[in-house]
Amino acid sequence: MAMNDVGRPTRLVAGTGAVAETFTGNKALMLEEPLLFERGSLDTSGVDLPPVPPVPDRLGGLARDAVIGLPGLSEPEAVRHYTRLSRQNYAIDLGIFPLGSCTMKHNPRLNEKMARLPGFADIHPLQPQSTVQGALELIDTLADWLMKLTGMPAVAMSPKAGAHGELCGMLAIRAALDARNDPRRVVLVPESAHGTNPATAAFCGFTVENIPANARGRVDLDALLARLGPDVAAVMITNPNTCGLFEPDLKTIADAVHAAGGYVYCDGANFNAIVGKVRPGDLGVDAMHINLHKTFSTPHGGGGPGSGPVVLSAALAPFAPIPFVRKTAKGTLELVEEDSAATHAGDSFGRMVAFHGQMGMFVRALSYMMSHGADGLRQVSEDAVLNANYVLASLKDLYTAPFAASGPCMHEALFSDDFLDGTGLTTLDLAKAMIDEGFHPMTMYFPLVVHGAMLVEPTETESKASLDQLIGAMRHIATNMLADPDAWRSAPHLAPRRRLDETLAARKPVLGWKEKAA
Ligand SMILES: *Cc1c(COP(=O)(O)O)cnc(C)c1O
Repeated sequence: MAMNDVGRPTRLVAGTGAVAETFTGNKALMLEEPLLFERGSLDTSGVDLPPVPPVPDRLGGLARDAVIGLPGLSEPEAVRHYTRLSRQNYAIDLGIFPLGSCTMKHNPRLNEKMARLPGFADIHPLQPQSTVQGALELIDTLADWLMKLTGMPAVAMSPKAGAHGELCGMLAIRAALDARNDPRRVVLVPESAHGTNPATAAFCGFTVENIPANARGRVDLDALLARLGPDVAAVMITNPNTCGLFEPDLKTIADAVHAAGGYVYCDGANFNAIVGKVRPGDLGVDAMHINLHKTFSTPHGGGGPGSGPVVLSAALAPFAPIPFVRKTAKGTLELVEEDSAATHAGDSFGRMVAFHGQMGMFVRALSYMMSHGADGLRQVSEDAVLNANYVLASLKDLYTAPFAASGPCMHEALFSDDFLDGTGLTTLDLAKAMIDEGFHPMTMYFPLVVHGAMLVEPTETESKASLDQLIGAMRHIATNMLADPDAWRSAPHLAPRRRLDETLAARKPVLGWKEKAA
């Protein structure tokens, strides 16, 4: 055991950390926890209720004739169960979360404080609009920032996630085509696009056609230009793309698509890499969703709901979904809930959500923007790109970096497992080994353009010390995998659960609990 200079143990020295089997299965503060059903019992109850007095049955023969099968536990038992499980979670508040394409950055606590202000947290969506003018003004102010940052003339605020924003943008394109009786229905999606893009296009009734990527990890411009024609409704391009690279031909592509009568959808989920530096409106984009939960730091994944506002060009703005906030002649704000010729041009494609969108996320995102300011947001993207390039530069001698020869990356560093050829080990083994080192693994096997992909997005909120620790662990794992491959096939070795049969779990998921026959 290594000691620090006041005699406190700092870390286990390799070889001295043998873990003894314990009676409980607990390993010091790492507590084992069975299923709730195994801990509780069907025969006990957490509360004492008097026996039910005989009352006439008014359920018309629908009364349950068997027990419901919920385990009985006391309140402390139930609290401990969930607290023990929560301690086995990994979270952005515990350590670096290098999931590429997900922008897992620190969520500033100031945002949380603002979102909990009673004037935002305690209002009800059905309150009269005159009583929630401040909330409407916040939505309007955030919309204004989003339009300024993207150089776009309109924004639909209500979509509740990135993929939901894609749906919004593609429905607006569909409505614009319908409004001019244009039957074109093909959507071109490059290989370097996010997987939600083709899914969204197909969901909206478009036919999806793939455009290949070139050797530099960008859209094959010639292939895309050659495919344009009167049947092409739109292209959907992720920029920066899922290889972590900027698509420098986007303006050329947009001009050509417009000349051919189509629209340009840009997946802006990776906006964190370019916020304050590039305005998508200047690149000819017609619709782009912004993930507030990525770029503007609202908690996401298991931590909170998403929000995916969509900026729109002048051509698509009339088709935006209701409701939206608008200034009245009296200078107050109104939420336009109905699309009729009297309230609006009557062109909206309709409604996507019950109310106005994710209010809590709007408050957090605006709090983030206002605390950073325009210069701070530019610094965010610069630091995010710097951190990703630090990771790329520190690993590319050991890990295969398929596009490193064509220059620096944007917000994420892409590697492949080619360097493990001959060892029988793959990206999966490497990701499992990272769990033993106390990291959430990087994004694996995505993007599909690269075999055995590993996509590392550190974000700007990681310090150099934290990046050095990640890089050190990744170098340690890779070096030792090459030296002694067999030691790594069954990682993780230190996690509460070992290597799981993920194929079996995906194919035959066990979603219910049945009591074991006695
Ligand atoms: C995260 C992401 C999406 C989807 O966003 P959700 O909020 O998860 O629906 C779409 N495209 C890209 C490039 C992304 O990174």
